[in-house]
Amino acid sequence: MQYSRPARTFFTQTLLDWHRNDNQRQLPWKQNATPYSIWLSEIILQQTRVAQGTPYYERFIEAYPNIIALARASDNDVFRLWQGLGYYNRCRNLLHTARYIADKLKGVFPTRYDDILSLKGVGAYTAAAIASFAYEQPYAVVDGNVLRLLARYFGITTPIDSAEGKKQMAQLAQDLLLKEAPATYNQAIMDFGATVCTPALPQCDECPFATQCEAYKKDNVSLLPIKSKKTLNKTRHFTYIIWESQSKIWLQKREQKDIWRGLYEPFLIETPKPVTMKKLSALLQQRGMTIDQLNEAGASTQKLSHQTIKAQFYTAEVDDQFIDSSQAGIWVTHEDLKKYAFPKTIVSFFKKNNYF
Ligand code: SF4
Repeated sequence: MQYSRPARTFFTQTLLDWHRNDNQRQLPWKQNATPYSIWLSEIILQQTRVAQGTPYYERFIEAYPNIIALARASDNDVFRLWQGLGYYNRCRNLLHTARYIADKLKGVFPTRYDDILSLKGVGAYTAAAIASFAYEQPYAVVDGNVLRLLARYFGITTPIDSAEGKKQMAQLAQDLLLKEAPATYNQAIMDFGATVCTPALPQCDECPFATQCEAYKKDNVSLLPIKSKKTLNKTRHFTYIIWESQSKIWLQKREQKDIWRGLYEPFLIETPKPVTMKKLSALLQQRGMTIDQLNEAGASTQKLSHQTIKAQFYTAEVDDQFIDSSQAGIWVTHEDLKKYAFPKTIVSFFKKNNYF
């Protein structure tokens, strides 16, 4: 779809005027930006709100001020710093890419867009952000904020998650980009979407685009952008048993290709439905574990992007021979629990029950 030159010029000019005069977003990675700091901030902000991601960025940049420092850090230290952000694949990719750049590229961040895009964990959006913010290269960023603003302003009804919609939006975003100042333009459009043309309650009455905005003129702001797919969400039932022996707790590392890979957790039984204590005792017996007393210790729910984890917790005193040696795990003192990285639901349980 083609849009007239005046419409595109008005859009770009209005956006830059707003950015110059009214944009209040001060983000720490905007100061003294380097390819490393931009890449780090963008990976942290994938699927994370700025307010939540900012303290993580600050802690990471303090602990690992450059890519070599990050590459040389242990997995466990980095996972611990990441704890609470979720989407742990991002953390694994962060480490993989840091080590790849340190070892294979002599610590020098790539400068070509295609080379940046080939890094693990870097998609088209992140590559465009790094290329434009770090090197002033003319690549338009297309994130959720940009999609929403463009769909509303131009009144685009093609579903933004369809192949056609993605292509159309990428082309339009690239056409609108101010090639002489890509970093400023990209920052402006993302900030505008994040602060004015927001998903709920956009500030249309004060918006400088209001006179030209198709969605506002047709009164269908709340209907745009359109998405075709509904995200399927499945519920999983995790029963955790905190085995304790001589003030030590048994932990295992999640190694399987699943959520939370690389993090630690207590003994786990996953079932299709919630289990009663009687059923749980039977399941343990099937595994050759007979236990005198299981104590109910609470429950929690953690929502992830495509699944909901309903966790039940039990505690039990055992002797340290109880877990047979075929179960790969470790006994950890209460004091040492803080050295390990856990999923959020486990951290909450440990905090609530004064384990640390
Ligand atoms: S008028 Fe409303 S919907 Fe249109 S661009 Fe402005 S904030 Fe977004």
